[in-house]
Amino acid sequence: MVEDSSNFRRPNETSSEASSSDNIGSQKPTQESKKSSKESPMCSSCASKGETQLSSDRDKWPIGKIENSCFRQICKLLDLADRSKEPLTGALGGFDQITVAYIEKKYEDKGGMGTAKKVLGKWGSRNKENNVGALKKILEDTMQRVDVVEEIEKWENLFVCHGCGIKLNKPQCSQ
Ligand SMILES: [Zn+2]
Repeated sequence: MVEDSSNFRRPNETSSEASSSDNIGSQKPTQESKKSSKESPMCSSCASKGETQLSSDRDKWPIGKIENSCFRQICKLLDLADRSKEPLTGALGGFDQITVAYIEKKYEDKGGMGTAKKVLGKWGSRNKENNVGALKKILEDTMQRVDVVEEIEKWENLFVCHGCGIKLNKPQCSQ
């Protein structure tokens, strides 16, 4: 028996700020249905330390706050330098020839593995503008590494601490 109480549902949701869809992958934001600035998505350690909460926009996050296993995967892919249209150091910019030569030599024995971690670490800690969003742009436009961008997007959907960046368990979110 379907009980049909004839009260049609009115869309009474206030769609005040729901129009900020500047993301490329235009998937519906299933999580974060209501904006809750009070509810801190931080691990207990960061919460107790009163750690500064990072933006909900992951593009603004520093490279160093990308969750470890995701970052490892990103670096692993980037170390497959043959796939890149431009070499990482050149694409990111700001690396002088001596530094580039030094890094190349250092990871030569390992077939270049480890290069991306080093380079991204240096680049990301240089200034605030060198964040995830900037990296994504370079990966897309200059290096044409969609595979790496996809990895970053996976991380963007991962529930992580907005203080330190470690992976958190979210009971509602079924990964
Ligand atoms: Zn934390």
